[in-house]
Amino acid sequence: MRPIFHPSLVNGRYGDPTVYVETLFEKRSLLFDIGEIASLSPRRIRRIDQVFVSHAHLDHFVGFDHLLRLLVGHEKSVQLFGPSGFAERVFHKLQAYRWNLVEKYPCDLVFDVSELGATDSISTTRFRMRKAFAAEAPVSRKTFAGVLCDEPTHRVSAAILEHGTPCLAFALQEAAHVNVWKNRLLERGLPVGSWLHSLKKAVVERRADDHLIRIDEAAPSDRLVPLESLRDLLTVTAGQKIAYVTDAADTPANRAAIAALIQNADILFIEATFAGADAALARERAHLTTTAAGEIARQANVRRVEPFHFSPRYAGEPERMLAEVMAAFRASRA
Ligand SMILES: [Zn+2]
Ligand SMILES: [Zn+2]
Repeated sequence: MRPIFHPSLVNGRYGDPTVYVETLFEKRSLLFDIGEIASLSPRRIRRIDQVFVSHAHLDHFVGFDHLLRLLVGHEKSVQLFGPSGFAERVFHKLQAYRWNLVEKYPCDLVFDVSELGATDSISTTRFRMRKAFAAEAPVSRKTFAGVLCDEPTHRVSAAILEHGTPCLAFALQEAAHVNVWKNRLLERGLPVGSWLHSLKKAVVERRADDHLIRIDEAAPSDRLVPLESLRDLLTVTAGQKIAYVTDAADTPANRAAIAALIQNADILFIEATFAGADAALARERAHLTTTAAGEIARQANVRRVEPFHFSPRYAGEPERMLAEVMAAFRASRA
């Protein structure tokens, strides 16, 4: 099954932690953390409409200015998500610049900044360029189990981890994949056409059985058909799960929260800042080691692990760092 979401590490395993997730068939992308993003083309950056920031340490948040620079002058709305206190940090970044004359701009740029204060409550503050990015009154809402957003195409959940400061880990769950059986279409005398796109969309969006599908190419009397009578034309498979875990102390509480979030992920991006032999240093800096990263991935039954955020002290040793993660990941699987 072809996945819709394609994630990639923007700055490799040593650079600023940032994962760019491209969406096939749609001109929208999302980011996990926003460190340095200069290597992304302006076209790819302008597609970003959701940014999930683990915490506001410099290497995870410094790229916000670059994003801002490329979006000013475009009609655009971006959702940002982060831990408690995040909206105020975005506010200060925005207020570092002078925004007079902006009310005359033809386009508006809007940032909706949501903070996950606890796993069941979110507070969202809006900043609009035409209002010189003044903070509008925050709106609070309840959520469940750290769900940040729930859209027709995907859902993103977060866990709150301890890193000397609250730090969010994320899991992106793609909506189900829908495939059409062409032979069944033929048997029923139904045309191949763009209506199949709306049919798939209706299934992914979990529409009810009486939802009507328009078959444009059919005879006028057969044009509107309830979804229920078309379900046997399709196979539905679960979408992929992509998890992103960074900057977490190796504590039992963090391990439990991570495990619950990332269980059975298809791809796990996880920090492995320190080598296994440097566990004492890792503890001091509230980071994971290669060994811990591999163990966490194995215990959560993850399919593929992509370690990153290697400390520069291991420059030139990516094979060693990777091998340590993989040794722990595969430990009792053989
Ligand atoms: Zn970091
Ligand atoms: Zn950090």
